[in-house]
Amino acid sequence: MADLKQRWHQLEQKAKDIGYRTTDRHLRLAVTGLSGAGKTAFITSLVEKLLSAQQQPPYGGLPLFTVCREGRFIAARRERQPDLNIASFGYDTAMSALRDNPPRWPQSTTNISELRLAIDYRPKAGVLANFVDKATLHLDIVDYPGEWLLDLPMLDLDYQQWSTQLLAANSPLTNTPSYADFIAKITALDPTQEPSDEALATISDSYRALLEQLVHQQGFYLAQPGRLLLPGDLQGTPLLAFFPLPSQLFTGQGDSSPLQRQLQQRYDAYVKQVVKPFYQRYFEEFDRQLVLVDVLGALNRGRPQFEDMANALNALNQSFRFGKGGFWQRLFSPKIDRLLFAVSKVDQITREQQGNALSLLKALLNPGWQRADQQGCAVEAMAVSAIKTTRYGMAKDRGLGEVSVVSGRGLDNGGDTITLFPGEVPQALPNKDFWQQQGFEFVNFAPPLQPPEQPFEHIRLDHLLEYLIGDKLL
Ligand code: GDP
Repeated sequence: MADLKQRWHQLEQKAKDIGYRTTDRHLRLAVTGLSGAGKTAFITSLVEKLLSAQQQPPYGGLPLFTVCREGRFIAARRERQPDLNIASFGYDTAMSALRDNPPRWPQSTTNISELRLAIDYRPKAGVLANFVDKATLHLDIVDYPGEWLLDLPMLDLDYQQWSTQLLAANSPLTNTPSYADFIAKITALDPTQEPSDEALATISDSYRALLEQLVHQQGFYLAQPGRLLLPGDLQGTPLLAFFPLPSQLFTGQGDSSPLQRQLQQRYDAYVKQVVKPFYQRYFEEFDRQLVLVDVLGALNRGRPQFEDMANALNALNQSFRFGKGGFWQRLFSPKIDRLLFAVSKVDQITREQQGNALSLLKALLNPGWQRADQQGCAVEAMAVSAIKTTRYGMAKDRGLGEVSVVSGRGLDNGGDTITLFPGEVPQALPNKDFWQQQGFEFVNFAPPLQPPEQPFEHIRLDHLLEYLIGDKLL
């Protein structure tokens, strides 16, 4: 009898091992978006939701997340991150900023970082459910600046083509005030002489100042090379000390000047040592990808900036075109099988406007936004908010009658309550008339004040979780 019991136990153990081996135990979720898209706030809030779900009745506060709705979610905990050479996502620091009195938004993403969670759950069906009461999904969340993806076209351009594109007449870059200063510094160099490292570093500093003005003061998005403003670990290295040259400084084939040769070499080194390795080292390992898009912020900035954001988004989207003939075929094989684009911060607008924001995102991503879909990667779009900073309500307007409003603590007025109708979000790409008539007032709200034990309210993070990881928790 004892023998039989032992044999049965062994068989059970074996079956469990098979169950473990044949079930997905690990998922790598990458989160990106251009600066200010809301990556840091998003990851912090998402992690908080998962860590606290077991204490949040009903359904862990995440009713659209099936594992929670079906009561199979047991608990989530933090685990040591797998890669020792990637910075840790600063969850505790971000959380203490959000929980400060008064609460503050955490520091934005400037480098790649990661965090690992273990999610314990009860399997629902299949081999695993027959042999184990509890299974664990190890979820790595990787945060990286979307600006790094804007460098992708550099793989297909040589230095001269790249310079010509960037310095095309009437581009946002050439219309930026410090452009003249940058050009003056280049033309002061003698292109027939070998440029010193110091001279190249000085001009590249002036190019960085130009990009800073373009992005931080003028509100544009497209800035290349992507690492110049967000250098990560490359801060101060000669790999970043290059810049585009105006067309008159390019000489004929086989007759390039020492200046052109030197810059060409640095450009090639950047592409070879920075752009390609990023895709090879990190990108190839991602299973799922989320791209956050601050559509409302771009609308607020005005027409040229909005159009620049559309171009930036399109450039960024190229990284996910996994089809034949794409650059993936030449370099390596991606395994991302779900891609989600999400309009972030939709708590800034009224509930009725959130559908419009989603339609606008889809219009922005057109015509190719679902192209990855045809190559075995599912693509979806959503409208979400990581941290709901507002309440919805109705207010009487003398001209319009009853209007929907949002109300929250202002970010730039010391936290006083602001109540407003923020404006109508267009459903499709806005035309010229629209920009002339429409006024937006999507205000930046401060994080809400609430008791420490209470997780932040959100909009559709459970729906998002279901899409990105729900199938791994069955
Ligand atoms: P990152 O640069 O992509 O890491 O962006 P952050 O997460 O730092 O967010 C940039 C700013 O957007 C924050 O400082 C907030 O002002 C705002 N923000 C981020 N998430 C939300 C949100 O869910 N709701 C609202 N109303 N504002 C947000």
